[in-house]
Amino acid sequence: MTLSPEHESFRRTVREFAEAEIAPHVAAWDRDHHFPVDAVRAMGKLGLFGITAPEEYGGADGDFTSLCVAIEELGRIDQSIGITLEAGVGLGINPILTFGTDEQKERWLPDLVAGQSLAAFGLTEPGSGSDAGSIRTKAVLDESADEWVVNGSKQFITNSGSEMTSLVTVAARTGSREDGRAEVSAIVVPADTPGFVVEPAYDKLGWHISDTHPLSFDDARVPADHLLGERGRGYAQFLSTLDDGRIAIAALAVGCIQACLDLCVEYAGERTTVGDVPIGTKQGVAFPIADLAVMAEAGRALTYQAAALKDGGAGHAELKRAASIAKLYTSEAAVSATRVATQVFGGYGFMEEYPVARFYRDAKILEIGEGTSEVQRILIARSLGLPAE
Ligand SMILES: Cc1cc2nc3c(=O)[nH]c(=O)nc-3n(C[C@H](O)[C@H](O)[C@H](O)COP(=O)(O)OP(=O)(O)OC[C@H]3O[C@@H](n4cnc5c(N)ncnc54)[C@H](O)[C@@H]3O)c2cc1C
Repeated sequence: MTLSPEHESFRRTVREFAEAEIAPHVAAWDRDHHFPVDAVRAMGKLGLFGITAPEEYGGADGDFTSLCVAIEELGRIDQSIGITLEAGVGLGINPILTFGTDEQKERWLPDLVAGQSLAAFGLTEPGSGSDAGSIRTKAVLDESADEWVVNGSKQFITNSGSEMTSLVTVAARTGSREDGRAEVSAIVVPADTPGFVVEPAYDKLGWHISDTHPLSFDDARVPADHLLGERGRGYAQFLSTLDDGRIAIAALAVGCIQACLDLCVEYAGERTTVGDVPIGTKQGVAFPIADLAVMAEAGRALTYQAAALKDGGAGHAELKRAASIAKLYTSEAAVSATRVATQVFGGYGFMEEYPVARFYRDAKILEIGEGTSEVQRILIARSLGLPAE
């Protein structure tokens, strides 16, 4: 898939930034589980959080394809940094931009779009992930105080507890619908709300640089005007947010595959074996690396085709299917790519001093976050008319 000269020029800008400002530090940040606020703010200064936001909120009014290019290029250097941008825009800014009132947008967007603060998106709970309809967190409207009172807990929430996190959009039950199912709404809870507690960060397999916390809400009160979008439309809002997010996760996965490819090509040309020849002369090494190139090209084509559909205003069903296909293929290919890369590096691939070990640990979550591979297969099967559940 060929992108425009403008997209390729933007790719070079982000690549230069990532190689100069991120690459030299990632091994240490990863080892220390350090969330680099200054680097994230520098990404903000470069305009990365505002790529798709309207100019009136400080954004560049750019397209979704450009956002995917930025996520891919950051992800090629480090997956945690890529997900910080992906979640910051896709899960933090987008729900407010898409569903917020003018007043809410004016209040919250400028700092988020400038990348000087971060917003998170709290859907998953200890008892509900893929089954998002069964969330337990509740928000009750206290009409005398004109406030929502939020109680419950959220789990695995990205960008939710960093020192630059300013708010979390929370999916909560706000009542029951006529058909007996839960009425779900989205409520914005600012980070300094009494009763909103950010629990200690998780000790994760990968994404060590990314900020992920459990959250709890104990009579957390926010003004009634913190309802985001229409009351009772929260579930539909979250689902549409995730459709876009899946394309962005696919871009992150493409970055991972490309990193594996680049690292392997270089290493296979340098490392020697019997007869003092590079290991890349051996088909047992060269062929799996050739497969990485196929994964990168195929993954990129699916991802940017889905992004082009989004930019072109494609219909909901077409976009949803393209997003699921791109996410499913690229995330599974990324996991395979990191396994190949680790093998090409031999024992060094198992050592943290080489980046392939970090990519190996980081890739697995791509098959889980923003809808597992099984959920993507359900959605794709349904798009074929199958009654999959
Ligand atoms: C690092 C990290 C960051 C995250 N960030 C966020 C965030 O910012 N915001 C947020 O809201 N969530 C976030 N999540 C949560 C993530 O989206 C969920 O973990 C994911 O949706 C899966 O939910 P679960 O973990 O509850 O697994 P479950 O839903 O319990 O699934 C367990 C297994 O069962 C399978 N399964 C479940 N239901 C079905 C079914 N009907 N058919 C077939 N198989 C099924 C799943 O595919 C999976 O293999 C994050 C998770 C992680 C690990």
